Amino acid sequence: MDVERIRADFPILCRQIYGRPLVYFDNGATTQKPRSVVDAIVDEYYSVNANVHRGVHFLSQQATELHEASRETVRRFINAKSTNEIIFTRGTTESINLLAFSFGEAMLQSGDEVIVSVMEHHSNIVPWQLLASRKGIKIKVIPMNDKGELLLDQYETLFTEKTKMVSVAHVSNVLGTINPIKEMIDVAHAHGVPFLVDAAQSIPHMAVDVQNLDADFLVFSAHKIYGPTGVGVLYGKENWLEKLPPYQGGGEMIQHVSFEKTIFNELPFKFEAGTPDYIGTTGLAKALDYVSLIGMEVISAYEDKLTKYALERLRSIPGMQIFGESENRGSVISFLVGDIHHFDMGTLLDRLGIAVRTGHHCAQPLMQRLGIEGTVRASFGLYNTVEEIDALVAGINRVRLMF
Ligand code: PLP
Repeated sequence: MDVERIRADFPILCRQIYGRPLVYFDNGATTQKPRSVVDAIVDEYYSVNANVHRGVHFLSQQATELHEASRETVRRFINAKSTNEIIFTRGTTESINLLAFSFGEAMLQSGDEVIVSVMEHHSNIVPWQLLASRKGIKIKVIPMNDKGELLLDQYETLFTEKTKMVSVAHVSNVLGTINPIKEMIDVAHAHGVPFLVDAAQSIPHMAVDVQNLDADFLVFSAHKIYGPTGVGVLYGKENWLEKLPPYQGGGEMIQHVSFEKTIFNELPFKFEAGTPDYIGTTGLAKALDYVSLIGMEVISAYEDKLTKYALERLRSIPGMQIFGESENRGSVISFLVGDIHHFDMGTLLDRLGIAVRTGHHCAQPLMQRLGIEGTVRASFGLYNTVEEIDALVAGINRVRLMF
């Protein structure tokens, strides 16, 4: 992988921050965008823009073709069976809310149970809690060991005849743990329970194949895989989506409306009320084309090398405590150094041009489990380099000496 060539595709990486070259290690929060993505967005606004699906005129049809071609690009990228299984949303959070609402309406009754894990992002906890308060369902939590690995034997014991859904992150946004999601899906299916994979932190870093995983539902955000903000995907097996009611009402999601009765549109439009972000979906498709051209296996191997190097170098820093020591891990590293507050570390690293994230990372229950308030988090993307990791290590050592 020619990382210098890749970096040239991302204009923002040339920026200086406080007079120093930007080191962008906040990819877990959002990624930077290659020129091809931004150009496609600008081009569509300048030369194609018209509302999709409704118009007979040329531009509307061209915009519709682009939008539906993007759906096909997503289908191919995650190896779904049909574009009917690809619902465009505003992102991971909206995808989970959509599913929790629709699945909850159709399938859950008071006393039913949903299983999540202790390392979930708030967006895979709160929608289920909202459902719990609406419907009286119970949330059960898969615990983890001190290395940040889910306890699979305990997972199995959580199932009862009341269990109706399991919803777990593929990769933890704090610990970097890659959960054994395929194995966990098999367990859920053995109990006749569907499984939702939160792929927000896996889709940018590894090949994800919904048929191979046998995932019932899978969600992700475009902005974490070099695409634009405000667009995301809910994948669902067609036989599940057919059974679920719409999430929102409005234009696009209907076949016929009268004051007496409304007939909903077919899949996937049943779940896409209102004008979709058809420009954003073009951006998402371009981003998927971009990473596909490099190859997800190549990206995965490169980031793995970077992460191993970073872990080795970070561990050599006196007072370093790394949270998440799973063997099978992605390119997210959370840490604290001595008693330096994560916020101080993040602020001082920023002065050296190094962008890391600090805080609870929208995973407060996990912070409680770890007995801490927050961490510093460095998360890598395909354009990061070994030299940037050296700069991070030098920066941490400099901050350490100040305290
Ligand atoms: N799930 C995980 C594991 C995440 O890391 C994030 C974002 O950081 C989300 C869900 C929410 O994603 P979004 O804010 O794009 O909806």
